[in-house]
Amino acid sequence: MIVAIDGPSGTGKSTVAKGIAKRLGFIFFDTGAMYRSIAWKIFQEKIPVTDEDAIRKVVSQFQFDIQTDGEGEKRYFVNGEDVTGNIRTPEISLLASQVSSLAFVRKALVKIQRRFGRKADAVFEGRDMGTVVFPDAELKIFLTAKPAVRAERRYRELLLKFPDLGDSLSPKQILHEIEQRDHSDETRAVSPLRQAKDAVLIDTSELSADEVIDKIAKLHAHCGSRRFEPMRFSYRCVYLSVRAFFKLFYGLRIHGLSHFRSGAAIIAANHASFFDPPVISISCPQEVHFLARDSLFRIPILGRIIRGLNSHPVARGSSDAQTFRQLIQLLQKGKKVILFPEGKRCYDGELQPLEKGLSFLVYKARCGILPVYVDGTFEAWKRGAKFFRLFGKITCVFGSPIEWEEFDGLEKREAMKRITARTEEAMRSLKEWLKNGAIGDPP
Ligand code: C5P
Repeated sequence: MIVAIDGPSGTGKSTVAKGIAKRLGFIFFDTGAMYRSIAWKIFQEKIPVTDEDAIRKVVSQFQFDIQTDGEGEKRYFVNGEDVTGNIRTPEISLLASQVSSLAFVRKALVKIQRRFGRKADAVFEGRDMGTVVFPDAELKIFLTAKPAVRAERRYRELLLKFPDLGDSLSPKQILHEIEQRDHSDETRAVSPLRQAKDAVLIDTSELSADEVIDKIAKLHAHCGSRRFEPMRFSYRCVYLSVRAFFKLFYGLRIHGLSHFRSGAAIIAANHASFFDPPVISISCPQEVHFLARDSLFRIPILGRIIRGLNSHPVARGSSDAQTFRQLIQLLQKGKKVILFPEGKRCYDGELQPLEKGLSFLVYKARCGILPVYVDGTFEAWKRGAKFFRLFGKITCVFGSPIEWEEFDGLEKREAMKRITARTEEAMRSLKEWLKNGAIGDPP
């Protein structure tokens, strides 16, 4: 789960983000520290902020690491050097703000942030967490406070960190710098600082850090149940009936639901049976979509069921281009789409090589993939059999999401090759995981 906390400086973001991470047992990630770290490197190498070529070189060689010291405080490393004590000075604050308006800098850092975000439950703090980096975050908070309060907080924080600067600092000057930074952060062309539509706004001017943390903890407690958009009534009715059927007759087991995030993605599954689309649909915690041959809609009960579960008919003879267009439209609307990248049902229950369709679609829609392995549907309804066998054992396993960023920047053919290989490997490792006793979380 991701908690995204955004807002301008001096709103108490870091204290609150650290506090809420501690309370929820999540990791804490300060993305401002990353922009500061890269600014520090540029400052150290005396590169003018206008020299984009030199900055690009710094970005390409930038290695960022975070460690936690004995007191539980985070320490930041740039190419192996501990920069924690050097990145909070007023010069670096200003430079970080300037450097962060460069699109290529943001692109590189967002990639690293998402990579960290994939590893564990985390609280991310920054300016664009809810809008750009994690638009699917389960909980989004936007902190604000009156400028004078923010300047006073920042003044006290700086005095504490740099007591020697006491004579040269004044709340008035800090207020001026804050306003300058706000202006630059809010007006830059790429990822400007703004509240995401679905973020909860909290004004911290009159609140203590603990009060803000309490508020967020309460919001978190409620958001478990509204992690995904509620299902429509008609969908939910079919969903629950079909789920009860598979639970009752096939002891349906579902693993890896924690890998599920809201937002667009392709759910890529192995294909062994007519049962696969309904089994996967009712294993998902939210409404999903899939395409099905129009002839399937004519099969008595199955036809009604798949219609109720958001399936979209594909007419026999319709072109690949039409089908892809239909799928891309669904993904662009933020929907999840089930796809069987092997192209057809297998004859033996084994995984088959993946066709190109999946990689083409991912490349076009620039969306993530949620790999799935379904076991037991082949035995329940084999290819060629007219009817299904009642009773059996079916398992559905969701694996770690594969993010689009893994392939971003690659040339089309290379990206498509890697998307296919990566998905195939993910599906195989889910099968292995299940075969080895389904211990721990699925990979
Ligand atoms: O949060 P902090 O004050 O440490 O961030 C330093 C600067 O880095 C900000 O003024 C902002 O310009 C930039 N930043 C950003 N996007 C983020 C985090 C910080 O642009 N996600």
